[in-house]
Amino acid sequence: FSSLELTQALLERIKRLDSQYNSFITLSEEQALLQAKAADASRAAGHATPLTGLPVAHKDLFCTQGIRTSCGSRMLDNFVSPYNATLVERLNQAGMVTLGKTNMDEFAMGSSNESSYYGPARNPWDSQRVPGGSSGGSAAAVAARLVPAATGSDTGGSIRQPAALCGITGLKPTYGRISRYGMIAYASSFDQAGPMTRSAEDAALLLQAMAGEDPLDSTCAVHPVPDYRASLNNSLSGLRIGLPKEYFAEGTDPEILQRVREAVAEFEKMGAQVKEVSLPNTQLSIPAYYILAPAEASSNLSRFDGVRYGHRCAAPKDLEDLYKRTREEGFGTEVKRRIMVGTYALSEGFYDAYYRKAQQIRRLIQQDFVRVLQDVDVIMAPVTPCAAFPLGEKNSDPVSMYMEDVFTLSLNLAGLPGMSIPCGFSGHLPVGLQLIGNYFDEARLLNIAHQYQ
Ligand code: GLN
Repeated sequence: FSSLELTQALLERIKRLDSQYNSFITLSEEQALLQAKAADASRAAGHATPLTGLPVAHKDLFCTQGIRTSCGSRMLDNFVSPYNATLVERLNQAGMVTLGKTNMDEFAMGSSNESSYYGPARNPWDSQRVPGGSSGGSAAAVAARLVPAATGSDTGGSIRQPAALCGITGLKPTYGRISRYGMIAYASSFDQAGPMTRSAEDAALLLQAMAGEDPLDSTCAVHPVPDYRASLNNSLSGLRIGLPKEYFAEGTDPEILQRVREAVAEFEKMGAQVKEVSLPNTQLSIPAYYILAPAEASSNLSRFDGVRYGHRCAAPKDLEDLYKRTREEGFGTEVKRRIMVGTYALSEGFYDAYYRKAQQIRRLIQQDFVRVLQDVDVIMAPVTPCAAFPLGEKNSDPVSMYMEDVFTLSLNLAGLPGMSIPCGFSGHLPVGLQLIGNYFDEARLLNIAHQYQ
């Protein structure tokens, strides 16, 4: 069948079913049909890539020319970007068809999608439960088979955690592997885009098209991009797996720990060797992250002032009133909380006690990983302490929401790549296995995931 037929069928399916999942904020039907026709034409002319004609959805923080980019916020509810993010551009070049923009926590701050201005997306496995966040719309859309692949971003877990909660595959590459140009910044030294798909092979295809040097982002790595599909079938015999004891402690759903151990046993059958390792500073990752990420966010979000982008309050009295009311009206509660925490941490007299201390902890956490990854090829761990939780359960208690990130944050602090792959169920809810690799070792993570799947 043609890309046009596939695109039409999926658009129809989204219109029929997405009122249950709320996974899309914007559908880009017209552009999608044009892209699909163009893809069919290039296929007929023999110019196809493996992605030509395949539909994709973008998390709504990637700028898309001519399609609204809201970042899940009232602040950008009316914002249409004049240009494409680099990764959007690259997937367009590869021939992919953009169906629309997916729901997310406001400015990517959250773990449940409940901070979205557009209301939460819902978990396709149980619509009374959260899909995770902040890339909850992308995860729900892929899990509900509304689209075969989506993009996400991961600052502290936002690809891996929703992938785990929705039972799909999510890859957060090494910091700098994919350009951040045109990706609305939350915490610039952590933010990294990545693919959310049904399989590791699909993730490899998307990463292949998205990764690599970009003159428009000076933090984007100048590092060769290997052929990610070429190594998918490598043998895992002799693979050295580390299990960090701090990730298997009490407090995690025992069913989740059991599924992870069962997955590790499968790898042993494939010839892998397993040993216990220690990442002793793990418990410091939540406090360090929740100083550093809000500090960077408070700075990044200062650009939303009612002058340059998006929302502007009505009839401002003067400039001060314009700033104040625009931001009061445009930002939701969690975003305001982060701006206040971040501004406080960066203010004169508190900088040394909070920001500098947190940076020092960040380095210690990174050194833990560097040391362990000299002895093992991959670290395996749970992704989340519990399976998908009911809507509303954690939303009024920010600290319990922050605890959700306990197993995902530390590798963003270190800049390392990580992946979540489905490894069974706790009751009726999916469980994710986390794979953590060394810098730029995405090919190995994809290989490991592919052999398991
Ligand atoms: N849940 C974390 C936060 O709220 C991580 C979010 C993310 O990765 N974008 O900051």
